[in-house]
Amino acid sequence: MVRFSVVEGKEEKRRKLLRPSSSCLPSDGEGEDDDDGGGNSSSAHKEAVTVLIDPDVLDCPICCETLAPPILQCNNGHIACLSCCTKMKKCHSCYFPIGPNRCLALENVIESIKVPCPYASSGCGEIISYAQRRSHEETCIFSPCFCPIAECTFAGSLQQLWHHFRSRHVDHTNFFLYALPFKVSLDENEPIRVFLGEDNVLFLLLNKSDVPVGNVVTMTCIGPDSLKGDFSYQLTARSKESSVHFESSMENIKRWDGDSPSKDFLLIPRGFCGAQGKLSFDVCVRKKQQ
Ligand SMILES: [Zn+2]
Ligand SMILES: [Zn+2]
Ligand SMILES: [Zn+2]
Ligand SMILES: [Zn+2]
Repeated sequence: MVRFSVVEGKEEKRRKLLRPSSSCLPSDGEGEDDDDGGGNSSSAHKEAVTVLIDPDVLDCPICCETLAPPILQCNNGHIACLSCCTKMKKCHSCYFPIGPNRCLALENVIESIKVPCPYASSGCGEIISYAQRRSHEETCIFSPCFCPIAECTFAGSLQQLWHHFRSRHVDHTNFFLYALPFKVSLDENEPIRVFLGEDNVLFLLLNKSDVPVGNVVTMTCIGPDSLKGDFSYQLTARSKESSVHFESSMENIKRWDGDSPSKDFLLIPRGFCGAQGKLSFDVCVRKKQQ
């Protein structure tokens, strides 16, 4: 059986603990604090303990996702998450009706468990609720992002990736300043161009050339979900006689898989390529609140 320790702490050695369950029933809100006013303050004086726990008992037995309040149970004590109970109505184990009875004891245990961010070694000092760890991993600024250069396997935090790019791919490095338009000349078959922003963020200009009527071009940034909506961009492709313009908010990815997004793109007619097979752009990236 795989076991792991439940830990809490900030500096120095991180203390491992499972906080003793509160005598208060959880509220309908997040209920993360164990003494949210009016509770038994004596629980705050109980000693923290270190435990080893089978992580499987903290997962919904049906969908295997991490349990989070409300946790529902049947009359025989079998538990399931709210999402599964809503779909199934009956217990998966004994077929008794399940819900609306909540398993408050397990809810208290799960809410009391704190763990360090899994990316602590990359610099994250967050101590997070076990139930919230997945959502934190998606947004953690220290979660790994992958180098977009073909055949490079580097992965690291946003800051590590930025420094990696500067030191290892200097030939591909294009710097720019937010809100200042800059010109880009792209080979019509060049699938990707990388730009480095001011604050450790990498941006990709993605070009799909196997479209019958021309090229499909879009931009995205590399980073965790916490960057979603932080940037917008404008692309203007020019030929001798005309231009096409596109504006959009910026999506984020952690890894480029070689594909271009299938929505929110600029379609550049085939005739925009110059005699040397080049596409010419004006690009402007803005950071929110600029
Ligand atoms: Zn479930
Ligand atoms: Zn049951
Ligand atoms: Zn983190
Ligand atoms: Zn690389």
